[in-house]
Amino acid sequence: MKLLFISDLHLCKERPEITELFLDFLQHQVREADALYILGDLFEVWIGDDAVEPGNQRVIAALKEVANHGVRIFFMHGNRDFLIGDNFATMSGCRILDDPSIIDLNGEPTLLMHGDTLCTDDREYQQFRATVHDPEVQRDFLSQSVARRYDIVDHYRNESRERSKQKPQEIMDVNQNAVISTMKQHHVRRLIHGHTHRPAMHSLLIDGQQAQRIVLGDWYHQGSVLTLEDHHFDLQSFDKMNARSADTG
Ligand code: MN
Repeated sequence: MKLLFISDLHLCKERPEITELFLDFLQHQVREADALYILGDLFEVWIGDDAVEPGNQRVIAALKEVANHGVRIFFMHGNRDFLIGDNFATMSGCRILDDPSIIDLNGEPTLLMHGDTLCTDDREYQQFRATVHDPEVQRDFLSQSVARRYDIVDHYRNESRERSKQKPQEIMDVNQNAVISTMKQHHVRRLIHGHTHRPAMHSLLIDGQQAQRIVLGDWYHQGSVLTLEDHHFDLQSFDKMNARSADTG
């Protein structure tokens, strides 16, 4: 049994080499796996299933091809691509997972999240998140023309970029109390999430018991994947050549 976990690819036309790297990863690594979990922010921007950019169409077709090959693919929304809907799921062959979801990994209940809801110190962001997750706000946005939707998204991205510059780094990370209370609430001792772009395997104690928080890496300058095989977790970044050699090795 081989399971792969990724997040925060932020695929977009400004970084075509990362789209190529992901297509290569699907073809050479995911094909050989039993399942792929995408824990959010696969795409940098998603303005609706009815307005897919050509580069992203290729990604959808490649996902579908691997799904047809027999790999189970799960997708959880991130804070960039939270508008991904049922049409995307049909086109790509992905199953959409709620955030959070609990899955069983070798008998150990494991909590999967994108991770943005754990960043509770960033109150401004949490408020923004609540607004854009309002179904009425989403319906209104999706009813706009494609051009208008891009204008709105550009506006918010510029604003968020400006505000992020003024925020201390700690605010952008998870809040440790939020991590512990969320894990306790779901009765898990393992959590896998992305979002913070701080790949690591953290050990922590919850009520005196050993627990683990695995943070997935982003794909800005390289690939990053968590592999679970033979009860062993392996968190690795890779470039294109490594992706190729992993196929033969
Ligand atoms: Mn994110």
